[in-house]
Amino acid sequence: MATAFKTEADTDFFTAPYHLSIAGKLVEADTGFDVINPATGQVFAQAPAATAAQMEQAIAGGKAAFKGWAALSDEERQSYLNAFADALEANRDDLIRLLVLEQGKPAQTMAAPEVDQSISWIRQIATRRIPVEIVEETADHVVELHHTPLGVVGAITPWNFPVLLSLWKVAPALIAGNTMVVKPSPFTPLTSLRYGEIAQSVLPAGVLSVVSGLDELGPQMTAHPDIAKISFTGSTATGRHVLRSAAGTIKRVTAELGGNDAAIVMPDADYKAIIPQLFWGAFGHQGQWCVGIKRLYVHRSFHADFVNEFVAYARTVKVGDGLDPSVGVGPVQNKMQFDKLKGFLADIKANGQKIVLGGEIDDMQAGYFFPITVVDNPPEDSMIVQEEQFGPICPIIAYDDVDDVVERANASIYGLGGSVWGRDTQAAVAVANRLETGMVWVNEIHTQGVDVPFGGHKQSGLGTEHGREGRELFTNPKTVLIRK
Ligand code: NAD
Repeated sequence: MATAFKTEADTDFFTAPYHLSIAGKLVEADTGFDVINPATGQVFAQAPAATAAQMEQAIAGGKAAFKGWAALSDEERQSYLNAFADALEANRDDLIRLLVLEQGKPAQTMAAPEVDQSISWIRQIATRRIPVEIVEETADHVVELHHTPLGVVGAITPWNFPVLLSLWKVAPALIAGNTMVVKPSPFTPLTSLRYGEIAQSVLPAGVLSVVSGLDELGPQMTAHPDIAKISFTGSTATGRHVLRSAAGTIKRVTAELGGNDAAIVMPDADYKAIIPQLFWGAFGHQGQWCVGIKRLYVHRSFHADFVNEFVAYARTVKVGDGLDPSVGVGPVQNKMQFDKLKGFLADIKANGQKIVLGGEIDDMQAGYFFPITVVDNPPEDSMIVQEEQFGPICPIIAYDDVDDVVERANASIYGLGGSVWGRDTQAAVAVANRLETGMVWVNEIHTQGVDVPFGGHKQSGLGTEHGREGRELFTNPKTVLIRK
């Protein structure tokens, strides 16, 4: 459902300089870097490029604030988080527009829900507690399990959901008593910088700093002795660097990484009825979600008809600027990703694979617009099936045998998500249970919630976000053994 927003583009929110938020202060940087609107390919803002010294100050600010913040009661921290949510809500419409400008996503169907969900997430997480647990008790002895905050947590985030994915880290880290330094992706720093500025007016100094800059700030955080944990979301390749670097100080690391999610349409599926859900699961958000459908396996008995119907549906969707309310699929976020997708396309063409929709890029058009591209039954070992495309190209692959398709779905270094679709729910659940992934949906996709663990198996990640399990990862378990 479309979600309305109203905003003027020439207010201070868009024209005032963007500040680093460091230890409670809004700080300008000596140098900046360009931020590009992917719908135009043009620079539309300058973000501050923090120096290594400024990152040091942010970490030191988090360290100085930690003791006082951790000593507050849960209820006191909850009221601070609620004040932060209220302050974000007061800037909701501007945040939505800024998110579209820096990220490209459609405003009503993607940016507004992202901002709204983030605000709601903070309020919900603020109510969650990790109680002390009695794990053993006898007449003269008791063992309690406490969860204590870690210290300064570093959040490193990607460019696909810059608001949601970082606030998914901020809320549970802060409610558990940690302080945090957020480093947004250099492709999409602006919304994080603005929420950092907003946070400084409601949170105690040093509790939440936001520091933008180029990629070298990330290694500084992952190696830093005063950062207790890195909560990272990004690619598997960068995740490996993060883990290697964090090993030096035995940091806690949560890593939400890449995926190559399979959707399996079972032989008994009402396949025509689910095409819209499958289409948006693959092409919604320009295919730029970690848990997007990246391989669509369809039973051979109706594969040909499925492809025709899928393409007919896809033709009804408009690609264009995310600020245009009639647009369903926006531009790809950045040139690097756009060029990577062109590489997939070149490989598909060089290998004579069948493109049934899209596949032609208009080089004269400004912005990073990639057409909705459907590849009909490429071989299992092709690049588009084996690698994470992270963009609007999807292969629709025929299969004959359910056991075989489960094996193909599992034959991947990734294990993030997946989905199974069929009339017989029990049969679909049985297949879902065989998928080697952290999350699997049955006859629905991309539903989530604050109490629903989210994370990947294999090289898709380490640890989990959300749920009790995710919140506990922002703490140290501490066992207290007492002789009564
Ligand atoms: P990326 O790995 O290129 O960058 C992520 C962040 O890491 C950025 O902030 C970047 O500046 C920083 N970084 C770069 N080098 C670093 C280093 N050596 N040390 C520390 N930090 C460093 O990822 P991206 O291209 O921004 O995002 C796309 C990827 O993220 C895709 O693979 C996607 O599947 C994945 N992703 C995963 C999830 C999930 O929850 N599993 C969610 C969204 C995106």
